[in-house]
Amino acid sequence: MSISNNERKAIVKICEAIKEHKNFLLTTHQLPDGDGLGCELAFLRILKKLGKNVVVMNEMPSSKIYSFLPGYSEIFTPDSYSKEILTPDVSIFFDCSTKQRVGKVVSFIKDSLLINIDHHTGNSFFGDINLVCEKRSSVGEICFFIASRLACIDKDIAECLYVSILTDTGSFRYNFNSETLSVITRLLKTGINPEEIADNVYNNNPVETLLLLGHALVNLQFDPEFHIAWTILNQSIFKKTKAAEQDSEIVIDILRTIEKTDFVFLVKERETEIKFSLRSRKRCNVRKIAEYFGGGGHDNAAGFSLKNIPLDEAVRKFLRYLRENKDSLCADGLTKV
Ligand code: 5GP
Ligand code: MN
Repeated sequence: MSISNNERKAIVKICEAIKEHKNFLLTTHQLPDGDGLGCELAFLRILKKLGKNVVVMNEMPSSKIYSFLPGYSEIFTPDSYSKEILTPDVSIFFDCSTKQRVGKVVSFIKDSLLINIDHHTGNSFFGDINLVCEKRSSVGEICFFIASRLACIDKDIAECLYVSILTDTGSFRYNFNSETLSVITRLLKTGINPEEIADNVYNNNPVETLLLLGHALVNLQFDPEFHIAWTILNQSIFKKTKAAEQDSEIVIDILRTIEKTDFVFLVKERETEIKFSLRSRKRCNVRKIAEYFGGGGHDNAAGFSLKNIPLDEAVRKFLRYLRENKDSLCADGLTKV
């Protein structure tokens, strides 16, 4: 397996920092996904094995579908954490393009050494040590190389890293290459059971999530002129179905399966902001659209939030932007219906 010189240098620095320090805080972005969560839980176990004090803290709880992962029940939120537990010497951010992506957790990192491990294009290199590999499928794939160097991969760690890679490649549908599969081969050799993991991740949806999905699909909207589709989930539907936002990823995953669409988007009304999730096919770069609105992500999966704006107005504003920029949104413009 090949790692670049830059990757190797950063990995060596990270391993040295791990050896030199005792107290670690691990975190990932708001609404943690399988990638960020898998890396945190892999490192929770790695660092414990090395005799370190370690806490995982995320601003928001993650989906319960990941509760089968070792260490899941040990994750703190800022509310469940008390300061006496640990003052970090080192804070490791997984899957965050900027420091702000972790939300309120920022106030807990104090003046600790900051390690930034990510794979987003446009990462702001906010760390004291930055390991940013845009070509890697997932942060889990990157973390495999650190865990290998520390010589401590076991079945539990492999399971966490496997979930990172599995979920960030959409079950090996996009964004991976032969390098990724070499890492997967190494993880499988620890004895993890990919069938069981897939069953846990994909066949474990709370019924509330399916009710939310039903609503999202009944209210699916299409642009009459271009191949764009979207749906909106307001606060009342979250309340009515009792679905948790962290369990709603299936909605955008299903939207992106619609034939011929250049891109699809999901709008969610949160208490204090309107969140947009964008997904596209290769020729259409949704990261650039998200960046225009102050967000970010990957070329084909990105997001942003608008604050201080009602739901209807936010949707109108976004649709207006799309119409005004229809020629530059995709290579060769948007496809006509
Ligand atoms: P999702 O739509 O699932 O929330 O996010 C898709 C991708 O876009 C992920 O890589 C996520 O980290 C990124 N993303 C989503 N929302 C934001 C945002 O507000 N700011 C930035 N920088 N990235 C975002
Ligand atoms: Mn990721």
